[in-house]
Amino acid sequence: MKTRTAVLYAPGEPIRVEEVELDPPKDNEVQVRIVAAGICHSDYHIVAGDLPAYLPMALGHEGAGIVEEVGSKVTNCKPGDHVVLTFIPSCGRCRYCTAGHANLCNMGAAILAGPQLDGTFRMHSEQGGVGQMCLISTFSERTVVPDMSVVVIEDHYPLNRAVLVGCGVPTGVGAVTHRAKVVPGSSVMVIGCGGIGSNIVQGAALAGARMVIAVDVNDFKLEKAKELGATHTVNSTRDDPVQLAKELTYGEGVDYAFEAIATPATIGQAYAATGKNGTVVVVGLTPATAESIPIPPLDLVLFQKTLMGTLYGDSQPRYDIPNLLALYHAGKIKLDELVTRTYTLDQVNEAYADMLSGRNIRGVIEFA
Ligand SMILES: [Zn+2]
Ligand SMILES: [Zn+2]
Repeated sequence: MKTRTAVLYAPGEPIRVEEVELDPPKDNEVQVRIVAAGICHSDYHIVAGDLPAYLPMALGHEGAGIVEEVGSKVTNCKPGDHVVLTFIPSCGRCRYCTAGHANLCNMGAAILAGPQLDGTFRMHSEQGGVGQMCLISTFSERTVVPDMSVVVIEDHYPLNRAVLVGCGVPTGVGAVTHRAKVVPGSSVMVIGCGGIGSNIVQGAALAGARMVIAVDVNDFKLEKAKELGATHTVNSTRDDPVQLAKELTYGEGVDYAFEAIATPATIGQAYAATGKNGTVVVVGLTPATAESIPIPPLDLVLFQKTLMGTLYGDSQPRYDIPNLLALYHAGKIKLDELVTRTYTLDQVNEAYADMLSGRNIRGVIEFA
């Protein structure tokens, strides 16, 4: 069948919305009609050329929709099921999945490679195979994905909100709860309050942090951070976040600093803001060319600091996606407030322009 999708042919070019041929699902694959897709920064790294990936690539790695057809060996979902797609598949069998780190599933090696897991393409243009971002390419009316990328959710959740628990929410909330394991009463700083950072803020509030200092260069994002649980905000174009972190903690520094901008300089700021026994968590994707971060090694030991990274918030998609939706249902985490603007598929370039200019926490493409 034909489907409309958003394809990147070369870095620096606009994304092209075009019709491609979509093959039916193979044995362990699922065809999904996408209802909503989130505008996340990671696709833009490929557009900008600072994350190497197969091209042409049908973009989009945050998506929710309805199953239309399943391959002969699929047992985890059926036509009509409402699903959220996970941008890292979880096989359930590899060393990392079985150790409780499905976010590091060995199948994740395939997510920027282009074809499906058997090495063949499901999407085709006149020039040949079109790769699928994270195997799921959610900026598509319809897509075919591995069954291990599909997580069934309860029907009553609005799919244009559930979409957010495919990437941004588990990455941010999980960084706090799973990776750093923030304990009640902690002091937390969050540098960068966009799609990921805003979820770190609400994760810190959920974890019972007594102080959540939100840092950004954009006052709109800082206002949103307050809605999501920030107790203090700093616009770093006007004030020094490290100095404020020290002032608010009687000179000690914060217990946890999360870095969601992904520049070496802001990782250095996060490190400087933490005190003794402090933990720095790097969440954002730095460009592949970034090499070193300004960290004084001596106080890593003297102050017993921890520097860690996290991918997908150390989340287990099959556990965390339904669990985060249950937390939303219970009013413990916010999703409606995160969606700042909606777009049609044809507006995908505009959606990225808005993301870059700081107009959105999360933009969402809604399909008719
Ligand atoms: Zn993402
Ligand atoms: Zn695995």
